[in-house]
Amino acid sequence: MKILLPTSTAGSLPKPSWLAEPEKLWSPWKLQDDHLSAGKQDALRIALNEQQQANIDIVSDGEQTRQHFVTTFIEHLDGVDFEQRKTVKIRDRYEADVPTVVGPVSRPKPVFIEDAKFLRQQTNQPIKWALPGPMTMVDTLYDAHYKSREQLAWQFAKILNQEAKELEAVGVDIIQFDEPAFNVFFDEVNDWGIAALERAIEGLNCETAVHICYGYGIKANTDWKKTLGTQWRQYEEVFPKLAQSNIDIISLECHNSHVPIELLELVRGKKIMVGAIDVASNTIETPEEVASTLRKALNYVDADKLYPCTNCGMAPLSREVARAKLNALSAGANIVRQELVSQI
Ligand SMILES: [Zn+2]
Repeated sequence: MKILLPTSTAGSLPKPSWLAEPEKLWSPWKLQDDHLSAGKQDALRIALNEQQQANIDIVSDGEQTRQHFVTTFIEHLDGVDFEQRKTVKIRDRYEADVPTVVGPVSRPKPVFIEDAKFLRQQTNQPIKWALPGPMTMVDTLYDAHYKSREQLAWQFAKILNQEAKELEAVGVDIIQFDEPAFNVFFDEVNDWGIAALERAIEGLNCETAVHICYGYGIKANTDWKKTLGTQWRQYEEVFPKLAQSNIDIISLECHNSHVPIELLELVRGKKIMVGAIDVASNTIETPEEVASTLRKALNYVDADKLYPCTNCGMAPLSREVARAKLNALSAGANIVRQELVSQI
């Protein structure tokens, strides 16, 4: 990456109201069949355009073609029965009715490759594509077949690897795995979570990222955050092992979170996507606030490895708020770029 402090988003952006009801997760589609496919492509074009208007350097599809960052991927797999539902506790935090793994899981056909190809055709900018991580996938299902979280994660890792290799082949520059579960199940992360992630990136030549966050700004997450105390040290549990992994980039939340910024020292040497935009609030950051978060991170991250980013996806926000936050991210990154250039 030649640009200093290249900006990007964690992934999702709000959808237009004609495609799905805004400010809602799992919002049902408002179109059907061919209209839906065409509508998703139009929404992807708009999401790209909004990132470009805001001068975002590494662009994404804004996750316009998926209803949910985990479920949509799983819907395309064999071995999971969406009719047979069981109540489980997701991320040890909230109960949900989830589909059941009823047999060996496999990917009968590519999931996002056509969408990624379409995005690639629209821009020459670097593109980042998000996939769910193996542990987070396991954590959103009831497993009646493998009866082992580790074994199921391993199967998902192999499937994700197939998808990732095809994404790379159609020109995706960075493949990101979303692993919010890494902030919850520390023993499992260290026993097999990172190993499964490394299986998912095996043989890839493009850059790889893992996004570990405290979740969207939904009630279950904000309630959980209240129980975490004044210092959020979750990253401390997994960073040492992640530092030794083959993952190139770590995406995490920094702004308005209680993560002690010095924890970044544990992953020195990795590229870091520093979350400088709070997605759990409608308050628009000022460019100076963004700059301040980035300056703090610069004490632990070399300038050529710092990627200003949002804390998490912006799907549940209004489009107006999301646009303003993208602009703030760019403007804040610009302030710090000027400072760095004048120091040389
Ligand atoms: Zn996130």
